[in-house]
Amino acid sequence: MITKEKEQTTLLLMQKEREQICTYSRKLITSNLTTGTGGNISIFNREKGLMAISPSSIPYFDLTPESIVIMDLEGNVVDGDNKPSVEFAMHAIFYSHRQDVNAVVHTHSNACSVMAALHWDLPAANYLVAMGGGPTIPCSKYATYATKELAHAALEAMGKGYAAFLANHGFISAYPTIDGAFGLADEIERCADIFLRAKSVGEPQIIPDEEIYAMLNAASGYNK
Ligand code: 13P
Ligand code: ZN
Repeated sequence: MITKEKEQTTLLLMQKEREQICTYSRKLITSNLTTGTGGNISIFNREKGLMAISPSSIPYFDLTPESIVIMDLEGNVVDGDNKPSVEFAMHAIFYSHRQDVNAVVHTHSNACSVMAALHWDLPAANYLVAMGGGPTIPCSKYATYATKELAHAALEAMGKGYAAFLANHGFISAYPTIDGAFGLADEIERCADIFLRAKSVGEPQIIPDEEIYAMLNAASGYNK
């Protein structure tokens, strides 16, 4: 019997990025960062000017490198038979506006979605909020899912940082590497959960902004 792996004899366009999307998409489920087919992941190849993005509404454990869609930043499909994620514009806008971003992760994780339901920014009740690049994780303005308006709202909310909540929807991170973008999605979910639990029994003590900036200065180069 010919296995799926053996059927593929030649390398696909952006093979490495496709494989990484398959791996990290599964981690969205196993790390409890989304349910069903919620969320999406992309990786940008700056040399080629193309992004690899998860397809729309296909269960993450069914993904193979062939299922991933390759697109340009204008929204044209360059390779792939599947429909790209409906949020492709929200991914592309970061690659065209942020030279430092090469990977975007969008999740529907629980605590982040609660923050997004409240339209709350997440203050630094835990020092790891600083991983987002500043003293808070901001929440975007509301915009309908799958629209250019949501893409602009996400870009604007994030500013020069690396993460934001999408009002009444979920979470997005944009980072130089896929490992970093995924790590942020995981860590900010934990920070949001800590904040909400603390808030439910008392008043969380927030780290002063100066301390966060001093920490970020001292840590520049750390983790890069
Ligand atoms: P896709 O399956 O099209 O990526 O949509 C999921 C989602 O999270 C929409 O915001
Ligand atoms: Zn979504």
